Amino acid sequence: MRKPLIAGNWKMNKTASQAEELAGALKDKLKNENKVDIIICPPFTSLEAACKVVKGSNIGLGAQNIYWEEEGAYTGEISAPMIKEIGCQSVIIGHSERRQFFGETNETVNRKVKAALKFDLTPLVCVGERLEEKEAGRTFSVVESHIKEGLTGLKKEEILKIVVAYEPVWAIGTGKTATPQEANEVHSHIRRLLTGLYGEEVASRVRILYGGSVKPDNISGLMSETDIDGALVGGASLQADSFVGIVQGAG
Ligand code: PEP
Repeated sequence: MRKPLIAGNWKMNKTASQAEELAGALKDKLKNENKVDIIICPPFTSLEAACKVVKGSNIGLGAQNIYWEEEGAYTGEISAPMIKEIGCQSVIIGHSERRQFFGETNETVNRKVKAALKFDLTPLVCVGERLEEKEAGRTFSVVESHIKEGLTGLKKEEILKIVVAYEPVWAIGTGKTATPQEANEVHSHIRRLLTGLYGEEVASRVRILYGGSVKPDNISGLMSETDIDGALVGGASLQADSFVGIVQGAG
């Protein structure tokens, strides 16, 4: 039985004081929630402020990216041990915005996933096709390369520590959501791929989140599908009420 997980990707939003305020509101409104795992992912500069608020609560903390080296001359980068020490338990890896604007590839995703696992961080690994790939009928093959290349070299016990987020790029921040059935077809394909690579026992335990314009009014339809285990939420994670509505709708 996979416990639902809702993760909020705040992207480049919320200063430290704004993060403290939003995290405080979420902690208060979600204090009795125990059916759903909850993670918030503020920007790096707001992690410490958010951590002080959610520490010891039912809300986990994640970063939005890391570099794969632990330390050194890599100006502007942040490493896994740095976010670990500040209080993160997880990190988003390979978000489509990072692939699109910052040159991330399946190879860099793979290095970052390995760096996260080395420091006992849960990687939330994002996969998903762009609109032109969907229109060319390439959804399954794109997702397959993201999974196979992004997770290459991982052992079965490491796969159990990851979370996959299927985010069709055409649905991110656009208001267009894949229908629950459309999303579930891809989720089931991902689980089949994981089964082929790591066996059914492992694949059946990996949580696969959906991401792309998730809102309080579409989460329950998504969650009613067999292979959708939660959501990675962008825009709607920036207001307490909408994020709370999504968490409650997932339970
Ligand atoms: C995201 O960026 O991960 C995302 C799913 O964004 P949105 O919910 O705004 O579509």
